Amino acid sequence: MLASVEALLGWDEQTMMPPQAAAYRGMQAEAIATLAHRQRTDPAYGEHLASLAEGPLAQDGSAQVRTAIRLLRKDFEKHARVPERLVGALAKTCVEAQQAWATARASSSWTTLEPLLRQVFDLKRELACCQMPDADPYDALLDDYEPGGRWPTIEAQFARLRAEIVPLVQACAGSTRRPDDAVLRRNYPVADQQRFVRDVATRIGFDFKRGRLDTTEHPFCSGVGPHDCRITTRWDAGSLATALYGVLHEAGHGLYEQGLPTEWYGLPPGEPASLGIHESQSRLWENLVGRSRAFWEWCFPMAQAAFPQSLADVTAGSVQQALMAVHPSLIRVEADEVTYNLHVMMRFDLERAVVHGDLTVADLPEAWNERFSRDFGFRPPTDAEGVLQDIHWSAGLIGYFPTYTLGNIFAAQLMAAACRALPELDRDLAAGRFDGLLAWLRRHVHAYGRQFESAALVEQASGEPVSERWLVESLWQRYGAAHGIA
Ligand code: ZN
Repeated sequence: MLASVEALLGWDEQTMMPPQAAAYRGMQAEAIATLAHRQRTDPAYGEHLASLAEGPLAQDGSAQVRTAIRLLRKDFEKHARVPERLVGALAKTCVEAQQAWATARASSSWTTLEPLLRQVFDLKRELACCQMPDADPYDALLDDYEPGGRWPTIEAQFARLRAEIVPLVQACAGSTRRPDDAVLRRNYPVADQQRFVRDVATRIGFDFKRGRLDTTEHPFCSGVGPHDCRITTRWDAGSLATALYGVLHEAGHGLYEQGLPTEWYGLPPGEPASLGIHESQSRLWENLVGRSRAFWEWCFPMAQAAFPQSLADVTAGSVQQALMAVHPSLIRVEADEVTYNLHVMMRFDLERAVVHGDLTVADLPEAWNERFSRDFGFRPPTDAEGVLQDIHWSAGLIGYFPTYTLGNIFAAQLMAAACRALPELDRDLAAGRFDGLLAWLRRHVHAYGRQFESAALVEQASGEPVSERWLVESLWQRYGAAHGIA
């Protein structure tokens, strides 16, 4: 209850709250967070969990009951090992670091952020040692976002992926047949986009009786109750793709939230498996469905009716091809589907080096620029467009970045499995029938909540161990074809 109230306050802060309310909202949020932490670490609660774990339900209960007991106990022990002083210090330092980050990014001044970021990394390392004293510190941090994830496995997977993506990016850049994406940057009135995008979200299955779509600068999805999922987007009258793909992404997250077992809301069988699995759902709808030829066969007449002036002289095929353009960019959130993973892998390597003591926070900007130019072929002209672009590290989100690319890997493998199980899928998508795919995801992914760790869940759904090869294949096939590469 407290956590969902916290989530609702957070949603309100981003969407509705007047600016002068911020200070009091900060106090409200702190009060709820303190209460929640106290309940989560209450010794009496720990004793209840311990006796449940030794009682008959832990042996003979349903799979969900056994999972709930096991994971609640794991969570409790993890939280209870963290002293309240550290929780407070982290919360306070991260608020200060995020404020410093906003100033630092606006003036491209690394030194404004550096001392606070050093404190954040130090505190997170301390947190790692408290939460999971026997684990590698990076794995201990990763566990908050990707339970059961281990960095050596991810590093090996990412290295194989990188070895395939770098040549693809180079081949796309060197191709003489590059998709023309000018059509995406015509005039698309915001009011028309709002109707159009809402229709698309409804058609893929997002339930507006159990959810909302609102406007924010940074899009997100937040589950604030078993029948209350909030997604947000930003609008750009000069872009067809910004809101449409923002909403397909967030609605993908929303479909997962809406597909979790409501009777287990707030308990592990009703919680998402991991951020990587969450991201696999958003990426699947955004990229593998939303950028496909079949999707545009269905969507194009609707888009043309919504934007008759801007789409009068083009075809479904030319819009879909425009979406396949690859442009290496400085900024992760503006990156295309192919180069996106290079941004993520770089952050994963750098943050891990800092956590492991192989790189100092002071040396991050130079390490960033050096790695960026190796992967992308040019150096960021300023730190604002380099090491200062993301808020994650300042917010204490360390060990979070790899979940983005894990999401892409899981999405490609799940989509390949869904295609094998649903031989008519392409024809269904082209006819605007999304319920078969959604039902498959509900049955193989959503219904399990947090009962399985991500690797086991993907393996069970697809019939084989997690592998990056499906993503490699999918990227080469779709983007290679669009750029005239065999
Ligand atoms: Zn996402």
